[in-house]
Amino acid sequence: MSVLDKLIAVSLPIVPKPIVRVFAGPYIAGETLDDQIRVIEKLNGEGLMVASSILGELVTRREESEEAVRDYKNALDAIHARKLDSNIHIKPTHLGLKLDKEFCYDNICTILEHAKSKGNFVRMDMEDSPTIDDTLDLYFRVKQDFDNFGCVIQARMRRSLEDVRRLAKARANVRLCKGVYLEPRERAYTDPRIIQDNYAMLLQELLSAGCYVGIATHDEVLIWNAYRLIDKLGLERHQYEFQMLHGVERELRGIIRDAGHRLRVAVPYGPSWYPYSVRRLRKNPAIAGYVLKAMFK
Ligand SMILES: Cc1cc2nc3c(=O)[nH]c(=O)nc-3n(C[C@H](O)[C@H](O)[C@H](O)COP(=O)(O)OP(=O)(O)OC[C@H]3O[C@@H](n4cnc5c(N)ncnc54)[C@H](O)[C@@H]3O)c2cc1C
Repeated sequence: MSVLDKLIAVSLPIVPKPIVRVFAGPYIAGETLDDQIRVIEKLNGEGLMVASSILGELVTRREESEEAVRDYKNALDAIHARKLDSNIHIKPTHLGLKLDKEFCYDNICTILEHAKSKGNFVRMDMEDSPTIDDTLDLYFRVKQDFDNFGCVIQARMRRSLEDVRRLAKARANVRLCKGVYLEPRERAYTDPRIIQDNYAMLLQELLSAGCYVGIATHDEVLIWNAYRLIDKLGLERHQYEFQMLHGVERELRGIIRDAGHRLRVAVPYGPSWYPYSVRRLRKNPAIAGYVLKAMFK
């Protein structure tokens, strides 16, 4: 962590809300479903697919998860009614993973049932390392009843090759990312070059096994490597997709789309943007550096 990153992390609690909003601004659609729908329509109009999510994590009351389930159902209804090209992604700790695993399982199944009735797809995000075992257990359990369900693997984690081999056997639909949480060295690679190489290796395992992969990265070296693999394996464009975060590397996403690949933009919304952004920036202050760089660009 650089000195600037450390400074950002310790000073966050005293940073006024409007300034945190500046950092969060490029990444979120707004506070309401209407804001989200406007952004989906715009991105769809540019030939991009969307992954919608509602901001929230680590809830401490069941009512918060129940509200999230209602909000996700409303979002799925709105997407369906307007014939928009957006699936959704959910966070296990938003749906009660830390409160009660059975409760979380039921919430996920309720959302999946609703998504299935609307012909839509749900992906479950991967959060920090203490939640990985439970998240993958939930994934394999829910997947027995729902084929419209995907998960996420983080290339940063030392365990990911083993997890990927299990998922490859199950022909899972996997989003591959580097991993946003800064993890202890005994669990995660910390050298960026190793994370890159691990990403490339995991992608090869998944694509070679015939898994549908959401290639989620803004790292052009990894995107180049994905192009190489797609070409080598002779994949059709419906067998994978690229994924990026809203507000990040717009130029690169246009380049990928114009090269004929499908690209999905992850767009979160909801009133909980402030606690979410503060936790994110505190966990990984490098994000603030990215935003500053992008603003000056
Ligand atoms: C669609 C999607 C879903 C994701 N889901 C998860 C998940 O479920 N679990 C999880 O742990 N992580 C998730 N992530 C985050 C991911 O793990 C990385 O933290 C993030 O994508 C940055 O890694 P990178 O591969 O882009 O490489 P980096 O080397 O981190 O970034 C490459 C370049 O992209 C730009 N960039 C990257 N991130 C940002 C940013 N936030 N703001 C501005 N510029 C930026 C910078 O120019 C940077 O130099 C997701 C990412 C995407 C795109």
